[in-house]
Amino acid sequence: MIQFLDLKKINAPYESTFQEQLKTVLDSGWYILGNEVKEFETRFASYCGTEYCIGTGNGFDALVLIFKAYIALGKLKKGDEVIVPANTYIATILAVLQADLVPVLVEPKLKTYNIDPLLISEKITVKTKAILAVHLYGQVAEMDAINTIAMANNLLVIEDAAQAHGAEIDFEMHNSDKIKAGNLSHAAAFSFYPGKNLGALGDGGAVVTNDEELSKMIQSMRNYGSEVKYHNDYKGINSRLDELQASFLNLKISNLDADNELRRTIASRYLAEINNEKIVLPHWDLSDNHVFHLFVIRTKNRTELQQYLIQKGIQTLIHYPIPPHKQKALSEWNNLSFPITEKIHAEVLSLPMSPVLTADEVDFIITVLNKY
Ligand SMILES: *Cc1c(COP(=O)(O)O)cnc(C)c1O
Repeated sequence: MIQFLDLKKINAPYESTFQEQLKTVLDSGWYILGNEVKEFETRFASYCGTEYCIGTGNGFDALVLIFKAYIALGKLKKGDEVIVPANTYIATILAVLQADLVPVLVEPKLKTYNIDPLLISEKITVKTKAILAVHLYGQVAEMDAINTIAMANNLLVIEDAAQAHGAEIDFEMHNSDKIKAGNLSHAAAFSFYPGKNLGALGDGGAVVTNDEELSKMIQSMRNYGSEVKYHNDYKGINSRLDELQASFLNLKISNLDADNELRRTIASRYLAEINNEKIVLPHWDLSDNHVFHLFVIRTKNRTELQQYLIQKGIQTLIHYPIPPHKQKALSEWNNLSFPITEKIHAEVLSLPMSPVLTADEVDFIITVLNKY
């Protein structure tokens, strides 16, 4: 059986260094917000090209903390509207709701699955204060266009970069230098959930930003709104990146670029060699703007294809089977219609994709798909 994602195999090469790190943290006697978290924050900020990084308990909290910090700073207030893609993982939208803000959904482009910038302006009202862009499946959203709209309307821009560690683009606003996901907005949230391109052995997340004031506020708010122990300046939460997880991430971050390159190599083969008119392949311009967190195809009869693949020993998953606005949890939106989002959710299927997938496994997957 070819697993969709073999996490054990991904982490196996680190076994002995993980154990050394465990011993280092154990022997330090300091288990919360210690040197490993500090080191990771420095390294991840430098990796993303941002001034600041603040480790958080997970990616969802990283998003919530950005919004709550902007509220504490008076830059957002309860009831403000935030433009979000309709086509995303529900965490994006729940984070906006968690901060007492109002998500306003915008359809994606069918070609890229990312938010369609041309549809943003018609959703902007006097209450709109931010755009939350998602780099879905690891492909950077159209940040030049999004930032241009935001500047014209005086909006904050936030990235949900939970699937896009290391993706980078030529960003016109920065003299066409290469700029990484996380550094294309006012603030960005990352997740280090085990299955992400940079994954811990448990939960983890981070905010990156170039805004010193925001960074200080989030640093305080992730720790009960306290800078000096037992002095609480803000109504904060407890969401700190775990010291042990940070120590593991400090090891794994060194291989992130190489891992992303392996993912792109597999994606190139899938794109060049899968040849079946029943299958729609993802759009990719061959640049580093995609880190293939997921390789997502579309097909009309998804259940049939998924069962065929399972019979041949290939596991696939669906990201995601139900759009956020059709979820029970968001029943107030169940009558809304987002046809492109609904079509995507009805047709997508994610093929095995990870740095540890072997060339033989990729051969086999391609052969089986071409015989379908
Ligand atoms: C994984 C993910 C999150 C949430 O991250 P957690 O660490 O699981 O809280 C948010 N948004 C997107 C797009 C994700 O893929």
